[in-house]
Amino acid sequence: MPGYELWSDKERKEVNDVLKTGILMRYGFDGPRKGIWKSKELEAAINETFGCKYAQITSSGTSALTTAMSALGIGYGDEVIIPSFTFVASFEAVLSVGAVPVLVDVDDTLTLNPEAVRKAITPKTKAVMPVHMCGSMADMDSLIAICKEHDLFLLEDACQSIGGTYKGKSLGTIGDAGTFSFDFVKTMTCAEGGVVMTNREDIYIKSDGYTDHGHDHKGVDRGADLHPFIGYNYRISELHAAVGLAQIKRLNEFLSIQKKNHGLLKSILEQVPEISFRRVPDPAGDSCSFISWFLPNEEITRAVVAELKAQGILAGNFYWFDNNWHYIRKWDHLKNAITLNSLSPELKEKVMQQANKDFAASDAVMSRCISTSISLLWTEEQIKEKGEKMVNVIRKVLKD
Ligand SMILES: *Cc1c(COP(=O)(O)O)cnc(C)c1O
Repeated sequence: MPGYELWSDKERKEVNDVLKTGILMRYGFDGPRKGIWKSKELEAAINETFGCKYAQITSSGTSALTTAMSALGIGYGDEVIIPSFTFVASFEAVLSVGAVPVLVDVDDTLTLNPEAVRKAITPKTKAVMPVHMCGSMADMDSLIAICKEHDLFLLEDACQSIGGTYKGKSLGTIGDAGTFSFDFVKTMTCAEGGVVMTNREDIYIKSDGYTDHGHDHKGVDRGADLHPFIGYNYRISELHAAVGLAQIKRLNEFLSIQKKNHGLLKSILEQVPEISFRRVPDPAGDSCSFISWFLPNEEITRAVVAELKAQGILAGNFYWFDNNWHYIRKWDHLKNAITLNSLSPELKEKVMQQANKDFAASDAVMSRCISTSISLLWTEEQIKEKGEKMVNVIRKVLKD
């Protein structure tokens, strides 16, 4: 999955362009920057590569989500439907705008179960936020239909699925807004960074101001900018944008290696009839950053994880069910609504209520799931060796 694996002279060159002028900030300094605008260039490249009208890059994927929610006007009293399986950033962002994260079960797509989404809708629901986890997508047609029917915003967290598509459209560009993360382990990286993508000009203009203290960016004199609303500082630096600019030009190369490696490893795992694979609503659009596979039950899955560990080959295989960062089961800080600053008592109560619901349907999926991350550095030989070792472990456990 990660673009950092193929760090090269191309990234060094883009960063050096910025280091030569020393103008590390994305706004202003028009003279001394000598025509070097890496952030603007990266935004244009994002529009071009992913087919969206507008892109606002930010300091992180998390700040991109917060920005998108603010631009959509999500805040006090609103509910945002998110999946039980995601990265913690998804609920952090909802909380950061003062809204309630409404957690909903995932199905064998490892993303929002549309029926569970329907059941979770209340008069306070403002948005549905599918998270395209582990390289592949949610069932977008169903979610689009639900959002239309109930007049809800669709906000895609596509942070883990850069380069994935659904029926020909890039993930992250289908809803009212969508986000990518360019943190260090994502498909392409800025070291730290993110983006809000949208086809709506109003959302873009709000995102642009929100990430820079509410500046309207209308003139050439930054000091004279007006501030039509209160914003924050979620700006990216030119150094980070420069890394991303080199990486986006290499994205097709990364994706084609990912797909090749994914295909080869999958063909080896397929030899075991007891293994099934994650359902992918549009298989052609899988970005292939992970292979996610299921074993028949939790007991077998745990035994396979233990045996992979014992043989020293667990690295790169994720058992999310036991993971602190990605699944509701171990989010004790959320279940107890532990924050450093006080939440309103009403919000705190709702957060705890949401996080302590019954997630048996998600457990039934996640307790049997292992995701294997796809490296860009593997040779064919290494994939065969890795795949065969994994298959041997699984066969051994199944026999016992
Ligand atoms: C990485 C990630 C984020 C947040 O990205 P950062 O850039 O690390 O803040 C959000 N959502 C998901 C699903 C992610 O994987």
